[in-house]
Amino acid sequence: MIEQLIKAQAFGLGFDLVGITDLSEAETARAFDDWLARGYAGEMSYMSRTAQKRKDSRLAIEGATRAIVVAMSYGGREPSGPVARYARGDDYHDVMLDRLNQLHRWIDAHIGRPVRGKAYVDTGPLLERELAQRAGLGWFGKNTTLINPRAGSFFFLGALLLDLELAVDAPFATEHCGTCRRCLDACPTAALVEPRVLDSNLCISYLTIELKGDVPEAVRPKIGELLYGCDICQEVCPWNEKFALPLREDAFRPREAIAGKDGRTLARDILAMDDEQFRAAFKGSPMKRAKLRGLKRNAAVVLGNIGESPR
Ligand code: SF4
Ligand code: SF4
Repeated sequence: MIEQLIKAQAFGLGFDLVGITDLSEAETARAFDDWLARGYAGEMSYMSRTAQKRKDSRLAIEGATRAIVVAMSYGGREPSGPVARYARGDDYHDVMLDRLNQLHRWIDAHIGRPVRGKAYVDTGPLLERELAQRAGLGWFGKNTTLINPRAGSFFFLGALLLDLELAVDAPFATEHCGTCRRCLDACPTAALVEPRVLDSNLCISYLTIELKGDVPEAVRPKIGELLYGCDICQEVCPWNEKFALPLREDAFRPREAIAGKDGRTLARDILAMDDEQFRAAFKGSPMKRAKLRGLKRNAAVVLGNIGESPR
């Protein structure tokens, strides 16, 4: 069966989970609209601009009917530190898109004709998490991540949309958070305002990565030594404690500029960097998103929280 061959190929390319689903109107469209209406997307205005498209995956690429949805671990067993695990190595967009494009070319060759399609890794108006749930990869945790019962949640998601009839997998129909609320209780800023609802304006990931202006004074102390992103609501999740996958992909190993550094050391290093040093250290890294200006702002918040000394 071609579906089995495609999955075997995807695993061979380094993906940890693979599933196939059809494209349709999003079941979570209403929840997404409510989230936008409550202002929980913060300054991420592209979310509202592309809302219509996001709510129907058939609109992403003309003629496409199926999505091959993949996940790749970024190392939930790595130690915690001032930079969120996902951002320590190379940019996942580049890594995942390259692998998905390789998969696409393999499918073309196997079928014997070019199959119309396109790969997405946070690179277009798609609700990838919903596609992943529908492809059988996991359930929506109360911390808003997709959780897989054998892999936890420390993984990237991507999708290859294709104009190709493929047998689809059963959706992941159950949820396994139960009465647990560890993530809600552990969030330092109470950004998880209710199960599965994140107010980005309060989330440390948003504040240290997406926010352009000053970090509001009231939340600064709660950021502690987190210089870029936050993994707390995933770290406390029992599914990650038991099942997070080890880091296998070399591209996601920490860069020299980050590896082994605590918040104080990294903050000092960043405050001392000029543009050229920043480019050399973070070329092709997700941390470029905040620009040197943003990283220096975050470094100042971290040093404000933990103090300059000892040297
Ligand atoms: S990433 Fe951090 S700040 Fe954001 S919801 Fe999770 S624990 Fe809270
Ligand atoms: S910490 Fe508990 S409630 Fe939160 S996502 Fe994990 S299992 Fe669900």
